[in-house]
Amino acid sequence: MTLLMGYRVPQSRADITEEEIDAVAQTLRSGWLTSGPAVRDFEHAFSDYLGGGIHASATNSATLGLITALKAIGIGPGDEVITTTNTFTATAAAVHHLGGTPVLVDIDSDTLNIEPNRIEAAITPRTRALVPVHLGGLACDMDAIHDIATRHGLLVVEDAAHALPASSRGETVGAGRSAATVFSFYATKSITTGEGGMITCGDPALAERIKRLRLHGISSDAFNRLNGNTWLYDVTEAGFKANMTDIAASIGLVQLRKLDAMWQRRNDIARRYYEGLADLPLVLPAQPLPGDRHARHLFIVRLLPEVPFGRDQFIASMAELGVQCSVHYTPLHRHTVWQTLLDVDGRDFPVAEAVFARSLSLPLFSAMTDDDVSTVIEAVRSLLA
Ligand SMILES: *Cc1c(COP(=O)(O)O)cnc(C)c1O
Repeated sequence: MTLLMGYRVPQSRADITEEEIDAVAQTLRSGWLTSGPAVRDFEHAFSDYLGGGIHASATNSATLGLITALKAIGIGPGDEVITTTNTFTATAAAVHHLGGTPVLVDIDSDTLNIEPNRIEAAITPRTRALVPVHLGGLACDMDAIHDIATRHGLLVVEDAAHALPASSRGETVGAGRSAATVFSFYATKSITTGEGGMITCGDPALAERIKRLRLHGISSDAFNRLNGNTWLYDVTEAGFKANMTDIAASIGLVQLRKLDAMWQRRNDIARRYYEGLADLPLVLPAQPLPGDRHARHLFIVRLLPEVPFGRDQFIASMAELGVQCSVHYTPLHRHTVWQTLLDVDGRDFPVAEAVFARSLSLPLFSAMTDDDVSTVIEAVRSLLA
């Protein structure tokens, strides 16, 4: 029954129940399919989840959420935006599509997040913003990042695709300290709407612009228009088509209610991994600072040098044992597009290179059974113990 694409334990599987299915059916029957009451309710519920007082704008993906947020803070041609090389291509592509230049920075070998000490060396007169990525759900040191941003007059937009729910230095990720924070509800993320994203922002004027830009640059959305009994609207700037549908939001509303329980389950699975793999020649994921919350989106392990075979061999052997592993990520500087556009190569990223060569992600998702967890632990032990 747990067979998915031939794996006994896949890398990830969405935690969807009859509740989400019923919610979608209800939305389909309601006659209102695109952005409407469900999106509004989802945005309010999301803001409340983060502690309230924050403006939340739902989008059709985190990728378009990043593009919308970066455009809203003024990123455009000629601007440089600093981010990590150890991320998904969308983080850098968002900057590129606005005419800006993503500037890649090496990572910390422990947290696997952007190395704050390397950020300042990458700042030029053209630098406008920092885009930290909370890899795997371990929040970046936001004190250090905001300190650099303040000293250099830069804005911060967080790529929090992995970081629901997470906190850094006692502050909930997305609760409003940065100019904007972008979450992903892609199928593998901690909650899903199939495809979707959420931009949070503490500044009402910036939130207003984000909401406008996500729907063509129109001054008020279709739902408000119809309910305000007016056909009149103005287009104030060229925006995007980045709004979320009510179909997606109805899934999100149910998923958000289950978020804490799903996080708890992933946390328990992670605890079993830490215990079951502790004596093996592996670097296990760095723990959050005391009091902070790790979203437990990914469980990234690194083979120590004494393991007599490589990472690719390890993943192939795990596949033979029925366990699907993955790699997060092939660093951006290794991809053709960024090598070509940014003129980067591995010599600029010695830490990311060394980490990438020996790292992989074990399956971690709330729908895993206890047997699934045992299968993964036994498979790793059979190869390394
Ligand atoms: C998933 C992901 C994105 C993109 O999210 P989408 O919702 O699929 O557009 C961006 N950045 C990171 C780090 C991601 O993992």
